[in-house]
Amino acid sequence: MKRLAAALLGAALVASLAAADDAAARGKKLFDEGKFEEAVATLRRDIDQYPEHVESYRWLALSLEKLGKPDEAKAAWKDFRALATSEEDRKLADARLGVGPAAADPDIVLDEKTVDAIRIPGQGWFEKKTAHFNVKTHNQRLTEVLGIQAEKYLAALSQKFLNGAAYPHTVPLTVYADQTEYVAAGNPDWSQGGTSFSYESLDGYLRNQMNRKIDLLHTIDGKLNPDLARPKLLPHELTHLVLVEHFGDRPIPLWLNEGIAQYMEVGRHAEANKILYEFFTDRRGAAIPLRTFATLPGYPENRGAIALFYAQSASFTAWLADMLGPEKFHAFLEDLKRGTGAEPALQSALKAGKDWEAPVQAQWLRSVEASAKK
Ligand SMILES: [Zn+2]
Repeated sequence: MKRLAAALLGAALVASLAAADDAAARGKKLFDEGKFEEAVATLRRDIDQYPEHVESYRWLALSLEKLGKPDEAKAAWKDFRALATSEEDRKLADARLGVGPAAADPDIVLDEKTVDAIRIPGQGWFEKKTAHFNVKTHNQRLTEVLGIQAEKYLAALSQKFLNGAAYPHTVPLTVYADQTEYVAAGNPDWSQGGTSFSYESLDGYLRNQMNRKIDLLHTIDGKLNPDLARPKLLPHELTHLVLVEHFGDRPIPLWLNEGIAQYMEVGRHAEANKILYEFFTDRRGAAIPLRTFATLPGYPENRGAIALFYAQSASFTAWLADMLGPEKFHAFLEDLKRGTGAEPALQSALKAGKDWEAPVQAQWLRSVEASAKK
């Protein structure tokens, strides 16, 4: 990307910015009209003239995506990210580059229309093999959509948290019509419709007897499983499957396993912050102290505490990931993988001393409040 020399910045820039705004607006108009080829040509010309104008890169990248040119689109998103002035725009770019939560990618959200078409499971099975999944559902459209989604989530997870590591397995991904079929396939009847077996039987995995699979439920009590449609279950279970194996015989801390799984869910970070903030203010509850939280050996006993634990895991993990950025967060994960305890690994990642708990907790809670009040 070309950059304006600092010497050029001055009064002349005001006039050139207005012209650049016009240029980007022309590109956006063509994009809105579905004239993507023309939009690309126009925006490229504009960028030659006004290489510093961030909006042009936004519409260029989106147009290139529409034309099915992912590599060129990514290059444009990189330029967009470098010039972006708001956190929101940087997050958008990260998501499109596959290094942020998958939420912002409209291609992988099951929209109302698609959900409507897949509401009722059909009779037979529809199967599709993708690079890493053998997808099997009772609805042809659902099979196709899930195949695409699963690959995108896997790629996003790897780029965001595992330094781009390739996933070396092929996993059956099955959506059962209903609870009866789901339980008959060997799944626990208490499950809410999502299971990944590496997670359910870690011992089995460690003895190399792991049965890798992702099992989901199509309907619950005759209605479309809302967590399948949002989509929530698939990225969550897929993340557990990959993470547990990635960490191998040094189990990943519970909060982080659930935290990263929820990070991959659409809209979960904001939702968790709202739940926590309401709990702290309306119900005068308190967060689990971070030192206890970081080393919890198992899930809390009662339902209310479990919900709080999940929300805190989602919120704290996302805060930490944003705070550290991809490289340092990855180094933190590697530290844990080498066997460093959760507390010393956190201290070292945050460059905090032994009295880390109170200041880190205060900083995280401020972010919960700011997010919940948005
Ligand atoms: Zn989970």
